Amino acid sequence: MSQAKLARLRERLISEATDRLSQPRAFMSFVGVAEADELLNDIKGHPHAFVIACIMDRQMSAQKAWRIPYELKQRIGSFRFPRLAELSLEQLERVMAQPEPLHRFPKVMSRNLYAAIRRIERQYRGNAAEIWTGRPSSATIVRRFLEFDGVGQKIATMAANTLVRDFRIPVSDRYSIDISVDIQIRRVFARMGFVPEDASTEYIIYRARELHPEYPGIFDLVLWELGRTVCRPRRPACDDCQWRELCAHANRKGAH
Ligand code: SF4
Repeated sequence: MSQAKLARLRERLISEATDRLSQPRAFMSFVGVAEADELLNDIKGHPHAFVIACIMDRQMSAQKAWRIPYELKQRIGSFRFPRLAELSLEQLERVMAQPEPLHRFPKVMSRNLYAAIRRIERQYRGNAAEIWTGRPSSATIVRRFLEFDGVGQKIATMAANTLVRDFRIPVSDRYSIDISVDIQIRRVFARMGFVPEDASTEYIIYRARELHPEYPGIFDLVLWELGRTVCRPRRPACDDCQWRELCAHANRKGAH
């Protein structure tokens, strides 16, 4: 794979992602259940639902974790912040655990949830949207997510990326929004020739930073969708892929 082709591929990926980012915000399907997705998309009315979903997104499938705010709403009867703030730790432990546990680790997650509610109450005056209002830098958003119990670098970056990319939250820069490395991104990035097949997560993160320091996470947008559609694990549909002329894998296949 020539460096010139790789450079053109990089340019075209950035240009396509930039075009998409200039489109109006679309309704996001996080879990594929209308009511649960409506709650998560209500970033103005229920900004804490998004934050709580991010906090729950550990050690279980993301789809199940992102459903938890809706399940809690059903169990509590409301997901307005003042109602959540009334609940004691014991009450939260109960709603997280009964009639069946909402998370693999209901006790730990109840504590994280309780701590998150206290933080939103004290630091953000009950309005989680204050985490990202006022055009903060991307590093500020990531750092604020890191302050929540149980949130590590991966989730904090994913949260900042989702806010900027999907909810179109204005920020003063995008330098700290890293690529969110998952199985789709890893596969497509490697096939295209940007990273070796066995590249570590850190390697992929730094490669994306090297390719586009101003916004390393910009590649998520196109790569993830490709991985879910044409660039499947087995038999990628290279003939139907718009990137085939520049993609290392397709070029290798064509050469045989
Ligand atoms: S050309 Fe083939 S291998 Fe390359 S990104 Fe497209 S589907 Fe994947």
